[in-house]
Amino acid sequence: MGEVILLKLGEVALKGLNRRSFEEVLMKNVKRRLKDAGEFAVSARQSTVYVEPLDHAADMDLAGERCGKVFGVVSYTRAGTAEKDLPAIQERAAEYLRDQLEEVRTFKVECKRSDKKFPYKSPEICAEVGGYLLEKYPHLQVDVHRPDLEVRVEVREQYAFVHANAQPGAGGIPVGTGGRGLVLISGGLDSPVAAWQMAKRGLELTAVHFASPPYTSELAHDKVVRLLEKVSQYAGRIKLVTVELTRLQEAIRDCCPEDLGTVILRRYMLRAAQRVAEQEGCQCLITGESLGQVASQTLQAIACTDAVADMPVFRPLIGSDKAEIIKTARRIDTFDTSIEPYEDCCTIFTPRHPRTKPTLEMVERGEQAIDGESLLKEALQHVRTTHISAY
Ligand code: ATP
Ligand code: MG
Repeated sequence: MGEVILLKLGEVALKGLNRRSFEEVLMKNVKRRLKDAGEFAVSARQSTVYVEPLDHAADMDLAGERCGKVFGVVSYTRAGTAEKDLPAIQERAAEYLRDQLEEVRTFKVECKRSDKKFPYKSPEICAEVGGYLLEKYPHLQVDVHRPDLEVRVEVREQYAFVHANAQPGAGGIPVGTGGRGLVLISGGLDSPVAAWQMAKRGLELTAVHFASPPYTSELAHDKVVRLLEKVSQYAGRIKLVTVELTRLQEAIRDCCPEDLGTVILRRYMLRAAQRVAEQEGCQCLITGESLGQVASQTLQAIACTDAVADMPVFRPLIGSDKAEIIKTARRIDTFDTSIEPYEDCCTIFTPRHPRTKPTLEMVERGEQAIDGESLLKEALQHVRTTHISAY
């Protein structure tokens, strides 16, 4: 008998009448990720997605790893298939899990019987399979409290499955079920994590990056592309729109009150992002801001920035500490890239003493010193686009 990858769905299973459409999107995402791992059949039954290899060339390790990064999957495991017949299940468990059983001292068997017509109840299946494994592997002992290995038997509608090594999946809900968001991506630690978190809640992503050549370099842009490639392993394809803010930034530096420079720049970033969002069919903006992290992220500064937005601005990291953000950055493998040292447009011309409690009135007055609208229009006329896809 063969082998499959079983994907367990979390919240998707709770979607009631929408469940089927969530499953469809999830399966489409799975198929797309597996394109270069071989030929697979993907189907869904009883809150589980089955990924079956169609030939021997299929790379099951790679496929498992890819499936583990599909949002909507809470856990995944490779499993051996068996006919729905007790002796067949016993033999398959002994054979399929041989390497693992030989390596451990204690085990237990857990059973899930979704086919209620199967003639044995779960406790009987556990006892029968457990007994058989003890006979086959005399070095083993049963430990129901803290076993080295948990052997799982699932009796489902068509086949039974045995497995012992389920891995946590990415969680969340499938990308493509929640609309499209435009993430403001810098080369820093926070924004890639923010992007990942919102993709986890089902958003497809488009990205906007602000560059200020010659003050910022092509290397900084390349870093952003590499960060998005990492995010794309989870979020799927991402189109990156790069907007040059050099002239706008110079005007702010030369004409606006120095202590308000950062807030004013951030307001223009949001305005620019919003126009890109409208063009690209995005319904919200996403930033990596975290309350109090820097002068431009105090409540007062965020209020001044938010005042120019007329679509929702999601800041998924607003309540996170740096240590928590770093933990996620390591998990999604963006950390090492994020800490590479290139200038970002936010780190050039920074005021010596940025005002931490600006008022809207102050900022609106300060902004009048430049013709921001023209500079913005000009910047948006020469954008550069890059298409990013991890696979
Ligand atoms: P990050 O680690 O994401 O760079 P940060 O802590 O450095 O964030 P800021 O530089 O104040 O904070 O930026 C706050 C947010 O503004 C970023 O998380 C990002 O969403 C957006 N942002 C900053 N710089 C840029 C840029 N050059 N292009 C696009 N968005 C940017
Ligand atoms: Mg930054």
